[in-house]
Amino acid sequence: MLPWLGGDNFGNPSSLHVDGQRAKHALDHARAVLADALGVQFSEVTFTSGGTEADNAALVGVMLGNRARGNHLVTTRIEHEAVLRSCRFLETLGIDVTYVAPDEYGLVSAESVANAITDRTVLVSVMHANNEVGTIQPIADIAEAAHRSGAWFHTDAVQTFGLMDLAVVDADLISLSAHKIYGPKGVGALYVREGVPMESLLHGGAQERERRAGTENVAGIAGFARAVEMMLAERATLYARLTPLRERLIDRLLAIDGTVLNGHPTERLPNNVNVSFPGTEAEALLLALDLAGVSASSGSACTSGSIEPSHVLEAMGLDDARTRSAIRFTLGRETTLDEVERAAVIVEGVVKAQRNRN
Ligand code: PLP
Repeated sequence: MLPWLGGDNFGNPSSLHVDGQRAKHALDHARAVLADALGVQFSEVTFTSGGTEADNAALVGVMLGNRARGNHLVTTRIEHEAVLRSCRFLETLGIDVTYVAPDEYGLVSAESVANAITDRTVLVSVMHANNEVGTIQPIADIAEAAHRSGAWFHTDAVQTFGLMDLAVVDADLISLSAHKIYGPKGVGALYVREGVPMESLLHGGAQERERRAGTENVAGIAGFARAVEMMLAERATLYARLTPLRERLIDRLLAIDGTVLNGHPTERLPNNVNVSFPGTEAEALLLALDLAGVSASSGSACTSGSIEPSHVLEAMGLDDARTRSAIRFTLGRETTLDEVERAAVIVEGVVKAQRNRN
C-alpha cells in the first residue's frame, strides 16, 4: 500500500499523465487479482468502500435498475444490517420485501426462498454464511431457485471469501470486504455479472465503468489485492486447520454446565463459535473476558443502556435466556490450540463467577 500513499506515486488513476497511469496500472492489477480469485471477468469487479457499500449498491442498484421487471425483493431475517437497512430504505421507495425466516440453526432452506418468490421478484439476496452464528447456507440450491424464476441472485460473501472458494458460487452479484481477509479497512468489492442492469448509488465521474463515481482508493485497493494473494495461498489449509480448533473450543465450552451451541453443528464456518450461557448476561461476560485477555463479541448492541437482543438469534426463535447470554468467539489465522485451551479455562472461570454473582 505504501507506494500509493504519496511520494512518487501520487497520481490520480483517471489522469492521462505518467503518474496517473502508474496508479491506473495498480488498479488494473488489483482488479485482475480479484477477478481471478472469483473466477470472473476483469470488467465484472467494482471496488467499493467495503462490504456495506457493496451490499447497498447490489440491493438498491439492482432494484432501481430493474423497475420495469418488478418491485419485489426476497431476503432473509438474518442478513447483516447493511442488507436489512438497504431493504428498509427500499421499502420507503415502494419496493416490497419478503424476509424469509431461518430454522432454529440459522439455516435458510432453498424451499422457503422458492416459496417467497413471485413473478414480480427482481432480486433474491441471501448471505453465504452468517456473521453471528456462522451457519453456511445452501447457496447453490438457493441460487438455482432464484434463477429458475428469472430473478437475479446476490450473496453477501464477506464472511466466506477468506475461507471458501467462491468461483463455484453461481451468483449474479457478490459482496466482499477487505478487512475480513486481513486487508485494510474501508475497502471492498462488488462482483456484478455482465448484463445485470443496475443504477449507481454515487453520481459523478465515470470511474468503475460508471458503476461507482469517485476517485478510487488506490492504496486501499492495492492492499486488498495483496491480502487476496496472501489469503489464496493459505485458504484451503486454513479451513482444514481451523475446523478441529473450532470443535475443540465448542467441546470445552459445552462442558461448562448449561452451555448451548447457537448455529448449525456442522454447516458452520470453521472460525465461528457462538454459545449461550443461560443465567448470565452477555455484556457482563464480555467485559470480564476482555479484562482476562479474551476478545469476544455478542450479536447484541447496547443502545442507551438497554440490551437489544440479536436479530439473528431472535429470528432463529431462541428464548430470552439464550439470546441475552450469547457470546461469539472468532478464531483467526494465527489462533493456536494452546490459545483455545487457555481461552476455555478463562471462559469457564468468568461464567462461574457471573453465575455466583446472580
Ligand atoms: N456483511 C457481513 C456479513 C459482515 O460481516 C460485514 C462486516 O462485519 C459487512 C457486511 C460489512 O462490511 P464492512 O465492514 O466492510 O462495511
